[in-house]
Amino acid sequence: MSVPQNTIALVYDYDQTLSPSYMQDDVLFPKFGINPEQFWDKCNSLVKEKQWDSELAYMKCLLDYLSIDHVTNADLTELGKGLSYFPGVEGVFEEIQELCIRPEHEAAGIKVEHYIVSSGLQALLDGCSLAGKVKAIFACEFGEDELGRISFPKRTISHTTKTQYLFRINKGLLAPQDDVNDHMPVDARPIPFQNMIYVGDGPTDVPCFTVMKKNGGHGIAVYNAKDPSGKSFKKCYQLCTHAGRVKHIAPADYRKGSHLRLLLEEMVVEVADRILKERLEEGQMGRIAAPAF
Ligand SMILES: [Mg+2]
Repeated sequence: MSVPQNTIALVYDYDQTLSPSYMQDDVLFPKFGINPEQFWDKCNSLVKEKQWDSELAYMKCLLDYLSIDHVTNADLTELGKGLSYFPGVEGVFEEIQELCIRPEHEAAGIKVEHYIVSSGLQALLDGCSLAGKVKAIFACEFGEDELGRISFPKRTISHTTKTQYLFRINKGLLAPQDDVNDHMPVDARPIPFQNMIYVGDGPTDVPCFTVMKKNGGHGIAVYNAKDPSGKSFKKCYQLCTHAGRVKHIAPADYRKGSHLRLLLEEMVVEVADRILKERLEEGQMGRIAAPAF
């Protein structure tokens, strides 16, 4: 059975995409007095010397560092309130809907939804000011022991498993218990890839950019124009110019009038207009001509 495919989904990576920093550096390390360099060195040695998955490595290191602090997920969510973003991030979610969706789009049921898919920590993101503005956040999660303390990784999202969440959004299977591998015909999927825009910052987003590209979706790679090393720009440039992963790159500035905002708005309007045209054509095809005299 086909469903109305009226929703446009904007899907964002978090670290370095919506925020100039890594969320651990932003709020966790200052709170618990953790030395960031030492922390990331420990993670990297687990990854490089002992072949740990990156996400499991950072989660293990966090558990080791926080073992005497009795930290709960609720504590992390509280800390998430302090997360900081690139300029314009807090306004972009509502503004895109207001500026791009015209009354005729609305009349046809066309709407915009926002999602965050991150390899960072769900509990931190749940506490941030963006949580109420997005339809869903998917990220790594800790389970808790009988005393409520974070004790073991419950879910990890790596740069490769991130693509699973694009399919979850595509199929409308957002709950963890939904099996994303269930077969679903293309016209029964609530958000086709052509209605999706993925915003990421670099090599860790390559699998998502690839899924978008293969399936007719859209991708934008963003960089931190204030990164004095220029690395942030370089990785985007590589993705766009040499690897052909994305068509568009822009500085991570989400304010009105910025290059990124112009791209996002143009893409959303183009998709909304296409959906509207399809709806109108379907209406005309479904209409039965009155008998001629
Ligand atoms: Mg990132």
